[in-house]
Amino acid sequence: MQPTSKATSQAISQANDPSADHPTIVVGGGFVGLFTALHLSHQNYSHPILLIEQNDRFSFKPLLYELLSHELHSEQVYPRYQDLLAGSRVKFVQDTVTTIDLHQKQITVASGQQYDYGNLVLALGSKTTYFHTPGADRHTFPLTNGAEAIALRRHLRTRLHEALQLKTCAERRALLTVAIVGAGPAGIELACTLADLLPIWYDELGGDSHEIRIVLVNRSRELLKGDINSQLRCTVQRALKQRQVEFLFDAAVSEIQSDRLHYQQHKQDHTLNAGTIVWTAGTSPNSLLMTLPIAAENRDPRGRLIVTPMLQLPEFPEVFAAGDCAITPSNPQPPTAQVAYQQGQAIAQNLKLQTEGKALLPVQVYLRGTLMKLGLNEGVANLFNKVQIKGQPGHLMRQATYLRLLPTPAHNARITTEWLTDELLQRHRPFTPMQLGQTPFLQGMAAIAASLILASPLAWRAAQPQQFQQSLHWSGIPTLLDQWVTAKR
Ligand SMILES: Cc1cc2nc3c(=O)[nH]c(=O)nc-3n(C[C@H](O)[C@H](O)[C@H](O)COP(=O)(O)OP(=O)(O)OC[C@H]3O[C@@H](n4cnc5c(N)ncnc54)[C@H](O)[C@@H]3O)c2cc1C
Repeated sequence: MQPTSKATSQAISQANDPSADHPTIVVGGGFVGLFTALHLSHQNYSHPILLIEQNDRFSFKPLLYELLSHELHSEQVYPRYQDLLAGSRVKFVQDTVTTIDLHQKQITVASGQQYDYGNLVLALGSKTTYFHTPGADRHTFPLTNGAEAIALRRHLRTRLHEALQLKTCAERRALLTVAIVGAGPAGIELACTLADLLPIWYDELGGDSHEIRIVLVNRSRELLKGDINSQLRCTVQRALKQRQVEFLFDAAVSEIQSDRLHYQQHKQDHTLNAGTIVWTAGTSPNSLLMTLPIAAENRDPRGRLIVTPMLQLPEFPEVFAAGDCAITPSNPQPPTAQVAYQQGQAIAQNLKLQTEGKALLPVQVYLRGTLMKLGLNEGVANLFNKVQIKGQPGHLMRQATYLRLLPTPAHNARITTEWLTDELLQRHRPFTPMQLGQTPFLQGMAAIAASLILASPLAWRAAQPQQFQQSLHWSGIPTLLDQWVTAKR
């Protein structure tokens, strides 16, 4: 009979596998790691699942600006793993992995504990790189996780208070200057957000918001050079200009001190005084990867691990790797969250196939359009590289898309409902100086209409995923957003 033969073949395949008793260990709980672990749990994977992550909270990186600005709360975009994994079969270990022994199939963590694995998923992401710029690691703020976003918010608040105590305008202007190094998507999104946010905060304290300066410092002349968002360059330039963000292009940062930044531009040395310096200029793969016994031909020039189309290491097929720390040369993907979470899901599927003794499948990643935050309540959605939805509808589409990706259905339902309420009731929504000139009635109507159009299927889908899929199945449109933003396969 079919069920018996399936069970028998599974039992035989497990009996032949010497590491069948060992857990599958996922190292790193970012988009790849968390999604792999959750999908394994949801599909009743037969092995124990261990997720080892150094932090106690998951950082939903595309929405860190909202965490900084308080447009969204910690529990929305910086939730605890304990809450995200409640009710799942995933065992969470909060610790830092210090050694990975691929030959012995063993992981060692900072507390000294060792874990044997049957399968390993490397989901270690990337780290900030400072290109050996003196002082950059000590005197700049990175923005790569929730803790850093909160630290930056506190620092900016303190600077505003300190500025009020200063006597001269020149002193206040220097302290209120925010220099952002790097004009990639993170630098641009942060510049637009702060250009809207800081004047509001400073006005509330009784300061003169004209004393605030946001300066974007970039080594090359081009914004978004070589980036997946480069199609949005004109829209981005307009948004920065409207917010009076200053540009320093062709500027090579040579040294950073606590209150200033030195740079070379057109062969001349310059100094920019700034009370806050944020570094968004570069990333490199996690340093733990460099310790692995992987042949040079199985790494790319940046040190990322080369993986097969099934996302396995060629020399260690029981090990999977994906996201920012790996690359498939035959089908390279940009280092983005939308790639990472799809790869996490695909790894889980392949691990499941492996336990069933079936052939693993090459992983397909479907690139959606790109989304950028261009200030408070403003964004842009680039659909199929053909259509751009800008302004408040772009902002709503961006938030709705990301909130839909929040890791668990329970989390998704609660957060989507909160977000919908916030948008409709206009909470967290101070008017920005730019929006004051627009028609509030039309803006309000547009916001409500767009919120309803975008969020009703989201709320329904989150609350009743099965029913939602079944009800819309006949139409061939699984979700409203997928229809809009999923690229043609
Ligand atoms: C500010 C910002 C904005 C972004 N915006 C977007 C966007 O709008 N759209 C988009 O698609 N992408 C965006 N990205 C990129 C996206 O977030 C990354 O591509 C994605 O997070 C990569 O997922 P990952 O799982 O490979 O790595 P990560 O998400 O970085 O996860 C790696 C995990 O490994 C853990 N870890 C590292 N070392 C160890 C260790 N030794 N022991 C234990 N745990 C360890 C880390 O703590 C982390 O949780 C943004 C990134 C940033 C920083």
